[in-house]
Amino acid sequence: MNLPSLEVLLKSLRLPHMAARWEQLEQQAQQEGWSYGQYLKVVCAYEHAQRDNRRLARYLKEAHLPSGKSLTGFDFAACPTLERQRVMQLASNLDWIRRGENILLFGPSGVGKTHLATGLGIAALERGHLVRYWSATALVQYLQQAKEQLTLQRQLQRLDRYGLLVLDDISYVKRTEAETSVLFELIAHRYERLSLVITSNHSFSDWGEIFTDTTMTVAAIDRLVHHAHILEIQAESYRRKSAHSGQGSN
Ligand code: ADP
Ligand code: MG
Repeated sequence: MNLPSLEVLLKSLRLPHMAARWEQLEQQAQQEGWSYGQYLKVVCAYEHAQRDNRRLARYLKEAHLPSGKSLTGFDFAACPTLERQRVMQLASNLDWIRRGENILLFGPSGVGKTHLATGLGIAALERGHLVRYWSATALVQYLQQAKEQLTLQRQLQRLDRYGLLVLDDISYVKRTEAETSVLFELIAHRYERLSLVITSNHSFSDWGEIFTDTTMTVAAIDRLVHHAHILEIQAESYRRKSAHSGQGSN
């Protein structure tokens, strides 16, 4: 047979991981007596797994999620009002993202809202959804600039790439007409199509403080709540607690 080398063939077929590993796996196949079919399956599975890992790493980087805040590291015992099972259910069954539903996380400062929102984001990523984390103030500023440059619609559409947007600390958004109106446009744009996880120190009754005019507040809350899972955390600040017990702080 006058064929090109396997390296060349695999590279031109864009199978770089197979090209890097086929020889080593061939030795293993000989030692362990694999059939040709088994060997083929193992090299293909290797390529597949490597691609998945790299894709995940790429998406994780693109997501800009705060690091080290997965659900595995979350101490549910510190949040007695939060049902662990409900959170884990949302993390393992992501139908809510497929349906474009939202999660709203309320609670005072330091009780783990950012941690939980991030943990849910990681879970979504691991199951193939594209996620992007933003501090709400940064996203609002970004969208406001886009509006000034008459590119708001285009930027909103670019965010459609993400099945899940995490908007952290929505209550810190400045209460100017310009800032709140882009926030409202974002909410209306994604409504019933794409998910938001929103964290807030204020509960709905205080949202008049976020959105300027009350008609806008009512319309935004209506859309957010229409298909939403609401998680309220009432707990002592974990930050303060761990500082007191000398476990370090953030
Ligand atoms: P919030 O966003 O509600 O202000 P954070 O999520 O930033 O609070 O939590 C503050 C710090 O405490 C973070 O380092 C977070 O990882 C940690 N933390 C908060 N709650 C918990 C918890 N229940 N289990 C583990 N770590 C927690
Ligand atoms: Mg936070």
